[in-house]
Amino acid sequence: MIIVMQKHAPEPSIEHVVAELSGRGFDVHRSTGSDQTVLGIVGRVDTLDPREFELFEGVQEVVRVSEPYKLTSRTFRPENTVVKARGVEIGGDKVVVMAGPCTIENETQMFETARRVARAGARILRGGAYKPRTSPYAFQGMGVEGLKLLRAAGDENNMAVVSEVMEISQIEKMLEYVDILQVGARNMQNFNLLSALGQVRKPILLKRGMSATIQEWLLAAEYIMSGGNYEIILCERGIRTFETITRNTFDIAAIPVLNKLSHLPVIGDPSHAVGRRDKVMPVARAAIAAGADGLLIEVHHDPDKAVCDGPQSLYPDQFTKLMDELRIIVPAVGRSL
Ligand code: PEP
Ligand code: MN
Repeated sequence: MIIVMQKHAPEPSIEHVVAELSGRGFDVHRSTGSDQTVLGIVGRVDTLDPREFELFEGVQEVVRVSEPYKLTSRTFRPENTVVKARGVEIGGDKVVVMAGPCTIENETQMFETARRVARAGARILRGGAYKPRTSPYAFQGMGVEGLKLLRAAGDENNMAVVSEVMEISQIEKMLEYVDILQVGARNMQNFNLLSALGQVRKPILLKRGMSATIQEWLLAAEYIMSGGNYEIILCERGIRTFETITRNTFDIAAIPVLNKLSHLPVIGDPSHAVGRRDKVMPVARAAIAAGADGLLIEVHHDPDKAVCDGPQSLYPDQFTKLMDELRIIVPAVGRSL
């Protein structure tokens, strides 16, 4: 249930509603907008009579939401959420590009790649230290040593950094080094992990599961938000379909659908969607044209020697070209880069 307060409702009237609901054992999530406050009520709301709250002072409307997600919904928060990571805003006017290798391999690779993507205009550096590999025999990541390299390369280039967390036990250590924690496609419905990330006070990049519906994806975000962490970035990375030429199928429509259903920022990851570098740039351009708030792109200083996802990693020169193209497309959709 969502309670929409009147525009500029006095603070005591808001507090009165919150106190009444908390007193009855409900979780109340408050969203304070520039002129309107909205309260998201979580719990056994079927036991509540909306009319009772409609009569409270300062209340404009009580809405029973039919969607199973509440806090991630635009009804709860009409304005866009702007997520902040080390001074970089995701979901605001500027389109934000995150780039870097699939996995952190060594110092040369991380620093070379970081310098090249930073020079081209990427604001956030990516690199996996814990890798969800399909085969147990494939390289599993450098762990904490990798995180140290990622942080150092990010600092040298004045970038925020993002890396994937695979299990609860890694969270605490990762918080020392990263600005954004990524939840990978394979973990989108790891509900224990999502709940634990609800307790964290750093942004979460939540990738879409490879066969997740948009509703399941928003419910995964709801797990994190209901724990109190509202800083979530959704990332469309392709879904599994009957098509086999590309690694996955990029669901371009998910971007405008999410922009309508949710206030959370949405970015596109064409690298994991298409799986081959010759198709990454056109899909990246399409994602921005469709209204994405940013991109996640795999770039490697020497992709032919990459330990992981080399065939889908852009050469630095290709990434620079993509950024030049974005400088033309981004203003056309009313944003800046
Ligand atoms: C990645 O970002 O390297 C990754 C493993 O992505 P996904 O979870 O989307 O497959
Ligand atoms: Mn990858």
